[in-house]
Amino acid sequence: MQFYLKILKKSIYKYKILKKDERILVALSGGKDSVAMVSSLRELGYNFEVLHINLGIDKYSEKSEEISVQLCKELSLDIHIVRLKDFGFTISKVREKSRRRACSACGIAKRYIMNKFAREERFDVVATGHTSEDIGSFYLKNIAGGSRIWAEKLMPRNEPFDPKIVARAKPLFEMSEKENMLYVLLKGLPYVEEECPFAPKPEWKEIIYEIEKRKPGFTKNFVRGLISAKKDFGIIKYCERCGEVANSNVCSFCKLLERFGK
Ligand code: SF4
Ligand code: ZN
Repeated sequence: MQFYLKILKKSIYKYKILKKDERILVALSGGKDSVAMVSSLRELGYNFEVLHINLGIDKYSEKSEEISVQLCKELSLDIHIVRLKDFGFTISKVREKSRRRACSACGIAKRYIMNKFAREERFDVVATGHTSEDIGSFYLKNIAGGSRIWAEKLMPRNEPFDPKIVARAKPLFEMSEKENMLYVLLKGLPYVEEECPFAPKPEWKEIIYEIEKRKPGFTKNFVRGLISAKKDFGIIKYCERCGEVANSNVCSFCKLLERFGK
């Protein structure tokens, strides 16, 4: 456990991922990675509050909320809960109408809510529990699809490129899922064991696991290498409906709302 904390501390310091004097909001899903992040940041002496987003994925979301509340109680942390159903739709509803769209809708909703909540509540940065495997597989998938703009989003920390955007940090970007799991088990922390019922087959992650098996250390080196591959963002626009930052006239969240909302 001390080894885990040592690597994490070094990584946060080296890549300037979080600062001790800023207001940090930590996103907690209740899964092993975000549970490890919340507990270890607490151990390292960071002051932060927690945000849990209930995505409305039936029993899975109920359980995730329950575990998140339990963990924060155990660690004496303030938790904020935002429920997607209060916006007028849930991920289960999206999935009923379009099987294919569930995960992309879920990602859009999480990013939208995290940013809006953090800005309105005056946080300086939002920390998410992305692991080295998440980052590596996401990057591979996107370059395979011909997109390179994603490189910016995969950095351990992104400063806001607009006043409406809150800085984003990935303290676990060098940690592996295995290391997070071990940390959570050794500390006896509560976490959601079930996978999301809508989770697709993790094809790109399996490629990463396979390379890692043959070349141990590949994933960590790969994500470190991404840091030198930074790319600039495109032109900034604002959504004409809700005013949030968008990459077209109407933001992806408002398009979801139009299609799946009440
Ligand atoms: Fe959302 Fe579940 Fe897809 Fe993850 S697997 S993005 S929680 S719908
Ligand atoms: Zn919008």
